[in-house]
Amino acid sequence: MVRMQYQVLLFYKYVTIENPKELVASYKALCAKYNLKGRTIIAEEGINSTLEGLVEDTENFLKEFLLDARFSDMQIKRSHGEGDSFPKLSVKLRPEIVGTRFPKEVDPTKKTGKYLKPEELRKWYEEDKDFVVVDMRNSYEFESGHFKKSIDPGMDASRELPEKIAKIKEAVKDKTVLTVCTGGVRCEKMSAYLLHEGFDENKVYQLDGGMHSYMEKFPGKDFLGTLFTFDDRLVMDFGGEREVIGMCKRCGVKNEQYQNCANAECNMLFLICNDCMSSEGPGFCSEKCEKSTVRVVQRMRG
Ligand SMILES: [Zn+2]
Ligand SMILES: [Zn+2]
Repeated sequence: MVRMQYQVLLFYKYVTIENPKELVASYKALCAKYNLKGRTIIAEEGINSTLEGLVEDTENFLKEFLLDARFSDMQIKRSHGEGDSFPKLSVKLRPEIVGTRFPKEVDPTKKTGKYLKPEELRKWYEEDKDFVVVDMRNSYEFESGHFKKSIDPGMDASRELPEKIAKIKEAVKDKTVLTVCTGGVRCEKMSAYLLHEGFDENKVYQLDGGMHSYMEKFPGKDFLGTLFTFDDRLVMDFGGEREVIGMCKRCGVKNEQYQNCANAECNMLFLICNDCMSSEGPGFCSEKCEKSTVRVVQRMRG
């Protein structure tokens, strides 16, 4: 029997979409035509999409979709899938493609951090240049893997960046800054936000194509651990020699498996190993969650 070969696509673009509702409908139809599943957000400011299907179907989808002049220059990232990365096809209309709630003037099509190619970043590492990587993902994504020389601002969601600016300024001082995220879509806005907050525009860069592009080109290099994904694969790597840096939140053993917090209101992903899972169940992401749930139960009993 021939084994079916699946592929996951990841792409985005900030471009004004005059009638996003219309695009939602036509995009949904096009994905369905090629039996693709995945998650897509369309807004007036652009598109952010990740899709999975048979390799041939995903490539034929791209041929057709990229005929649209608004999207023809998009950078497409490809990775291996098993056909079960997404439960279904979801295409949603939202106010933003990344939920930042930044002021309107933070517009990456007008002003954003300078693009740094993966090859240039490789050189920075080789030369041991003095720079700071500001990881613009959420903390739970940072925990299973990140670049060397990184700081984690400590966000649970992208809209929290404004609260973290003082901490970032403190860590960066007057050094060169490189913002990074999975595929680049968050950094477009987040590096723009740093400029809006008075960071020196000659010293703020964003990694072109994000971690995904870097790991495709330089597997196992400069990135410690594994890359968190927002699909059912949860983490991925591109081979190469790499170090596991994720740690079980409960026992501290090296581990790259995620679980959702048992507090339904939190539902945050955290790292927990198989042994702890089987002995105590998934449990809670933090002491705070454990206590708050207990309080809810007690109140109900009372
Ligand atoms: Zn454990
Ligand atoms: Zn929790």
